[in-house]
Order: sequence, then C-alpha cells, then structure tokens
Amino acid sequence: MKALLYDATLCIGCKQCEQACASENHLAYDDKVAAQETTSAYKYTAVVQRGEAYMRRICMHCEDPTCASVCPVGALTKTALGPVTYDGDKCMGCRYCMAACPFGVPKYEWDKLDPRVRKCSLCEKRVSAGGVTACTEACPTAATKFGDRDALLAEAHERIKAEPGKYQPVVFGEHEVGGTSVLMLSGAPFATFDMRTSFNEELPILTYRVLSRIPDFVGLGTVLLAGTWWITKRREEVAAAEEKEKTHED
Ligand code: SF4
Ligand code: SF4
Ligand code: SF4
Repeated sequence: MKALLYDATLCIGCKQCEQACASENHLAYDDKVAAQETTSAYKYTAVVQRGEAYMRRICMHCEDPTCASVCPVGALTKTALGPVTYDGDKCMGCRYCMAACPFGVPKYEWDKLDPRVRKCSLCEKRVSAGGVTACTEACPTAATKFGDRDALLAEAHERIKAEPGKYQPVVFGEHEVGGTSVLMLSGAPFATFDMRTSFNEELPILTYRVLSRIPDFVGLGTVLLAGTWWITKRREEVAAAEEKEKTHED
C-alpha cells in the first residue's frame, strides 16, 4: 500500500504542488485560483496558510472510504495500491459521496451540462506505473513525499521522536477514519486549519448515519435518480439525432 506523506513543517507555501496538480489534470491555474484556499471541481489540492504555518487540503484516500461505500453504482473504488479512484462513466450524479465524505472532499461540476464529481485521484495512473504523484515530483522541499505507507509512517514517527518540540504528537491519517493513504505531520494543531480531528464513531457507523439520512436509499431514491439520469441522457441523444437530421436536410 502506497501513501503520500505531507510534512507541513517543511512546507514553504510555494504552491508548486497546486500548479503541478492543475497541469497533470488539465485544469486552469492562474493567480485567482492560486489565491483560493479551498478545493473545488477545478482545484484538487489547496495550500492553506495560518500565520507562518501551512497545510494542504487533499483527498485523504481513506483505507475504508465512506464515499465508496455509499456509492450505489460503484463509481468510487479503493485500489490495492492506495488511491481512491472515480469512474465518471459509472457515476449517475446522486452525489451521496459528497454527503458521506468525513473530510468534505468530493466536489461537483455544477456549471457543466454533463457534470461529474471531482477530487484528487492520488495520480492513480502515475502510481500504478510505478511513479510518484505530480505534486510530490514538484515539491522543492520534500514537504510532500510519496512511497510505501508502512515506511512513511515509520519515518513520520521517527521525525516526531527526533524533534518532539517541533511536531504535534500525532501522524494525522494513521488512525483517523480507520487510516488513510495520506499522512500528515504538523507543527501547529490540525484544528488551526479547520481540519476535523475528532472521529469518535467507527466508520461503518458513519456510513450508516449517511444512509439513514437518505430515506429508502437503495430503493426509491436510486430509482428516481437513475430515471432522471436516463431521461437526461435520452434527451441529449434525441437532441443530437435531431441536429444530425437537420444537418443532412440542409
Ligand atoms: S477523504 Fe472523502 S473522498 Fe477521499 S477517500 Fe476519504 S471519504 Fe473518499
Ligand atoms: S496526488 Fe495528483 S491529483 Fe492528487 S493533489 Fe497530487 S497531483 Fe493532484
Ligand atoms: S510544493 Fe511543497 S513546499 Fe511548495 S506549497 Fe506544496 S507542499 Fe509546500
């Protein structure tokens, strides 16, 4: 299992990771996007600054992801290497993953005619080819590192042990929501960055809560949404056919 280790104490806030991510995923990146401290359908990672301290926002690639467990059509998958991937062709746009994610990660392309859910893929293609993520490659200070989860976890604990005054005494992602494929070290408390730090419930209970908030989850809701999706697709097909016919007539 692979993982990404982000050590905020080494981060200089240069945002090269953001830029590399945008380039890797063919997303527009300019000063306006760089100034945004939140992730969006057009920005999969964001560097946040609080005083002198930095933090990255990114999908945590949970080991037991609630986004995947609530998806009725299996559009989100935890792969054996670590990334939690998304298949837009399977997605029917119900957005239950957005309600379920404990970190508020998946975002939706609200302004598109054929909207999809968007989030960091942990550069799954690069990783499955034996490479590292684009954000790791671009980081000039090694604040973002990629490798085997066990080795990175051991290294993170070593760093805390070697300089206990420098770090918060926790590797964020080691145990949170059952463990994640993104591990984080920080000098400032994680709560400084409005990060959720309390997860009293076990993950299946979290998932159950989401499901129970959605009445008749797999039944009526899914049928209606699937129906809406089918009708929308059908309309598009009809419109395309009509357009083709018109062109032939001209
Ligand atoms: S952080 Fe959210 S979107 Fe990412 S894997 Fe975990 S549940 Fe899914
Ligand atoms: S792992 Fe890839 S997709 Fe995720 S933030 Fe880094 S560059 Fe972007
Ligand atoms: S590229 Fe590295 S040092 Fe620069 S903002 Fe990103 S994590 Fe921090």
